[in-house]
Amino acid sequence: MPRKFFVGGNWKCNGTRESIASLLKDFNGAVGEPDLDVQIVVAPPFVHCDFTKEKLPKGWELSVQNCWIGKGGAFTGEVSAEMIKDAGIPWVILGHSERRHLPQLKESDETVAVKVAYALANGLKVMACIGELLEEREAGQTQAVNERQLKAIAAKLKEEDWKNVVIAYEPVWAIGTGKVATPEQAQEVHEHVRAWVASNVSPSVAAEVRILYGGSVTAKNCVELAGKPDVDGFLVGGASLKPEFLDIIAAHK
Ligand code: PEP
Repeated sequence: MPRKFFVGGNWKCNGTRESIASLLKDFNGAVGEPDLDVQIVVAPPFVHCDFTKEKLPKGWELSVQNCWIGKGGAFTGEVSAEMIKDAGIPWVILGHSERRHLPQLKESDETVAVKVAYALANGLKVMACIGELLEEREAGQTQAVNERQLKAIAAKLKEEDWKNVVIAYEPVWAIGTGKVATPEQAQEVHEHVRAWVASNVSPSVAAEVRILYGGSVTAKNCVELAGKPDVDGFLVGGASLKPEFLDIIAAHK
């Protein structure tokens, strides 16, 4: 079965009710009947999830951008996977590079992996992000870093869990910088990641799992990237807050 193209929009810590209403008005005005060849998932900040859900175009799904590492309880300020599921939100983004690398957050490979396993075990679907820093790429460690991050996650999952996972390859040097990976650079890593999954999880999971590219995707560069055989969609930050997001969704056509 061909892998269905997937486009995620990560709104990060942005948006007011007013700006979100205006963005969704633009999206609703431009979107007709759902395009069955693409899966679209947007991730507003927690506080805007209900508001966004009411106004999402038909067929679009909702995600959050993070969740607590385990069962809820006395963890002030956190939101658990169980709560997200209960709120009717199917997806969570985990392992985003901002959560891995911002000095205030510094999530380790192990933390990300435990979160992914817990979220899956509690009925959520996961966009699991991996990606190397610029200095790691320059030191020739790109594949090793992506393998290490993936290995930590894979070690905690059963084969059947993978049907609820999409992998997002997001080179950190490309996120929010305007410096997009070339289609060749993206394909090289995606191909390597798929081969790693084939050898270390199973060939059937490797054939089915969607591998998204993320990092400064725009209406201008998306079509060429989408043309690569192992690029199954995008995780989009900045451009997901603009009408341009619709052009990125259309990149698979
Ligand atoms: C992201 O935050 O996941 C991302 C890819 O951001 P941007 O598209 O803005 O580079």
